[in-house]
Amino acid sequence: MRRRAIPGSSGRVRPVRLLGDPVLAAPCAEVEDFTAPVEVDGDRTDLAGLVESMFATMYAFDGVGLAANQIGVPLRVFVYDCPDDEDVRHLGHLVNPRLVSADGLEVRGPEGCLSLPGLEAPTPRADEAVVEGFTLDGARVRVTGTGFFARCLQHECAHLDGGLYLDHLTGSTHRRTLRAARRAPWAGAAVRPVP
Ligand SMILES: [Zn+2]
Repeated sequence: MRRRAIPGSSGRVRPVRLLGDPVLAAPCAEVEDFTAPVEVDGDRTDLAGLVESMFATMYAFDGVGLAANQIGVPLRVFVYDCPDDEDVRHLGHLVNPRLVSADGLEVRGPEGCLSLPGLEAPTPRADEAVVEGFTLDGARVRVTGTGFFARCLQHECAHLDGGLYLDHLTGSTHRRTLRAARRAPWAGAAVRPVP
């Protein structure tokens, strides 16, 4: 039996875009042609190459999820390798994902983002989420998550709509997190360099 490659093993770690980069604030485009070339930081690859580089980047920066615009590619693609609250590991990628439901209790839990390094804030999210989308090969998939993984699915879908977890904060938590972002050592930097 042929061993399947470890996700990200053929990908290249890319710099991560930081809060303030316009690519994080604009909605990403749907992938219309799954066989079309994709440009990542000036390198020409394909959708599979993009997903590989996203996995490599997510692992290099110790993330549990990564959206394509976080490496500067404005396409609706995200990857994840994320535990839920029962410590079940969820690993995969989604092309053209759509958050079809976000239900259950609203839970305020700590949330961070590779595009705002070192920061974390209690962020309200639905405890259950369902996302539908496609794999690289164009197969339809439906991913269901609870707890921390539901949080991850909502977080990554929001990225593709040009959103950040900051948008879900209110009042003093919002003000405090924005202030911390302005004072962060990376504030004003163009990108988060490859570790
Ligand atoms: Zn994020």
